[in-house]
Amino acid sequence: MKKKATEKNELKKSELKLFEKLLRDEKYKLLKNLSSLERSSLAEENTKLGEGNPEDISDFAETGTEAFDIEIALSIASNEFQQLQEIEEALKRIKNGTYGICEMCKKAIPKKRLEIIPYARFCVVCQSEYEKEQERENFR
Ligand SMILES: [Zn+2]
Repeated sequence: MKKKATEKNELKKSELKLFEKLLRDEKYKLLKNLSSLERSSLAEENTKLGEGNPEDISDFAETGTEAFDIEIALSIASNEFQQLQEIEEALKRIKNGTYGICEMCKKAIPKKRLEIIPYARFCVVCQSEYEKEQERENFR
């Protein structure tokens, strides 16, 4: 019996490390964004400028976005939160060795795609399938 490693993504250790770094950087950026969003919506309710970055908050006020819609802030936050979760999942996949493998067809996701979307769960073909699926769900 011959064992073929076709189901495994042929990412080198060094490449995995690189993607892990990309993911961590992205995660850090998102966390920073999320916490500044949180702070600015807090500033809406409460003008007490405590610790942290008071400049960020006054920026919001100066640009006349006083009525900065909390709903918008929340929807941005939830998008970023979702992305954050995708990143967490990708980091887990790096740990358990399934990173870079399409969750649907189990084929390797092209490196080029991972470079653009390091937390991609599907290859391009499956991604569009998945999106169609999601759309159908929304129409229900
Ligand atoms: Zn696929």
